[in-house]
Amino acid sequence: RIVVAGSANMDLVGLAERLPLPGETVLGDDFVMMPGGKGANQAIAAARAGGQSVFLGAIGSDSFGVTLNARLNAAGVDVRHVRTSYGASGVAVIMVDHAGENSILVSPGANSTFTDLTEDEARVIASGDVLLCQQEIPVETVTAACRAARYGDTRTILNAAPARELPIELLELVDLLVVNELEAQTITGSATPDMAALLALVPRVVLTLGGAGARYAERDGRDETVPAFPVEATDTTAAGDAFTGALAVAWGEGRDLLEAVRWANAAGAACVRKLGASNALPTRAEIDEMITG
Ligand code: ADP
Repeated sequence: RIVVAGSANMDLVGLAERLPLPGETVLGDDFVMMPGGKGANQAIAAARAGGQSVFLGAIGSDSFGVTLNARLNAAGVDVRHVRTSYGASGVAVIMVDHAGENSILVSPGANSTFTDLTEDEARVIASGDVLLCQQEIPVETVTAACRAARYGDTRTILNAAPARELPIELLELVDLLVVNELEAQTITGSATPDMAALLALVPRVVLTLGGAGARYAERDGRDETVPAFPVEATDTTAAGDAFTGALAVAWGEGRDLLEAVRWANAAGAACVRKLGASNALPTRAEIDEMITG
């Protein structure tokens, strides 16, 4: 069982020939609405990758909350422990132009009420195989979730996105850190990703390298780069979420981490082939197919 504690937003995506300038109104064309936020995305990614995925997070009492719940549930995510907090759901207002350039406004709404952990949530975490967190909810909540994981035998994965400095109390509770190059630089305060510095903080690190795949390293152990699957990248949105969700599932199934990284690369590649965000997250069959070719 993969327990994801994190953010959930409704993504409101409008497409237009060009982005409006400040004060300007542009007549757009297509509009779509889909679940978003790294927490919800990774919970969906894990469910589609064949994991038993449980989402812990806060949604609002508005109609977006109802839709978010329904969409997560339809994607196979266990939403029984999701909180509903009075007020607005998290919303991302996203404008995309025909060249793929975007402007995004995120209104955290209910996500900012996820400031502590209930006993029920702590129990769910402690009974999981893997806890997966990101950084779109308060850091105190992430730390409390990782502490709850320690009460059980739940392994912890922190996907340190978006990039932010990490308190030592949290790092001490992380079994596996997943970062892209920018996040790695932010954590260690270096101009290039410094694997040795990361391994001084946590015992295992996966560094995602976009079209170059991912590097897996462990303290006093292996350090290997696993190449990406060669695909035509149509849209790299949510590639990191597809990768991390699949990685959690594979690790939860007891697979070796290097093998899990290879499978996660397949999930990332299957995601970038398609246009879209959470709607582009691959199924287990699509991931396996990428590997068998
Ligand atoms: P993020 O989107 O979080 O910055 P990356 O860009 O590193 O993360 O992508 C995450 C993973 O998605 C990579 O490790 C890789 O497995 C896969 N991926 C991303 N871009 C490509 C690409 N162009 N071709 C194949 N796989 C890709």
